[in-house]
Amino acid sequence: YYNENTIIYHNGAFVKAADAKIDLYSQSLHYGYSVFEGIRSYKTVDGSTKIFKPVEHFQRLQASAEALNMPYKWTVEELIEVTYKVLADNNLGDAYIRPLVYAPANMSFNLNTESYLTIQAWQMAPFLGDKLLRVMTSSFQRPNPKGFTMTAKAGGHYVNSIMASQEAKAKGFDEALLTDIEGFAAEAPGANVFYEKDGKLFTPSLGNILPGITRATVFEICGELNIEVIEKKCTVAEMYGADAAFFCGTAAEVIGIESIDNNAFAKDWNETISRDIQLAYKNLVIENKKVALNELLGVE
Ligand code: PMP
Repeated sequence: YYNENTIIYHNGAFVKAADAKIDLYSQSLHYGYSVFEGIRSYKTVDGSTKIFKPVEHFQRLQASAEALNMPYKWTVEELIEVTYKVLADNNLGDAYIRPLVYAPANMSFNLNTESYLTIQAWQMAPFLGDKLLRVMTSSFQRPNPKGFTMTAKAGGHYVNSIMASQEAKAKGFDEALLTDIEGFAAEAPGANVFYEKDGKLFTPSLGNILPGITRATVFEICGELNIEVIEKKCTVAEMYGADAAFFCGTAAEVIGIESIDNNAFAKDWNETISRDIQLAYKNLVIENKKVALNELLGVE
């Protein structure tokens, strides 16, 4: 993630990652009381580096902090500016960017009067690789939305993600699919899920999942490609009978699923609309959308 020359933005200054310190008595370290974002930048077709949907990500960072009653004093504009500087200082084009808001020393559960912010960036391949995934339904469910604010991207929520992902890998799968408290399909440990059936896309409704920015982008792509997307309560059993399925997230991008619980999907990935969406997403993030859509729709 970093070496002796890596620069991060840390509490208002650009400093070497190796020299940056956090307080060991931070309430975030002990209780998972932090919020963060996962953002990507891409080297675009015109040669410039562009952060994908930075406004949406920094707005969600603020909303996550507010959901946890964490003081938040940063503007979207200043965070975009410092993030571009972190990318430039580290000579990064295609990068993964990790802003983290954390709490001061506090061993109680009381409110804090301030928060700290750090922004790190590094080069990262697609989080779940680039091959079709073998997925298992996790024995871990997503947290009860009455016990956690599931719209917040909070550090502590990710203990659940880590447990599910580790379980899947220990059982020889690539990744987990978690159900929600009612037993419906919810999401992956760090990505949303869609499935395809008879030319339409289906995805779990909001409420028990993180409202993914990539999920919203998939809706936009479907709008342009005239693909119908239906949000509903999805059972794992109906997903077994799908033509195809994919996970999507900033880190994972759009990645196809080969099977769930060893039930392989009916269609060849290369013949699915899910594959068209994967291509359209790749082209959108490098701002080559027009070419991609023309190709997909078969027009000059
Ligand atoms: N669900 C979870 C639990 C996640 O951690 C992520 C990654 N942030 C997503 C969904 C996808 O969100 P996004 O598309 O905004 O990255």
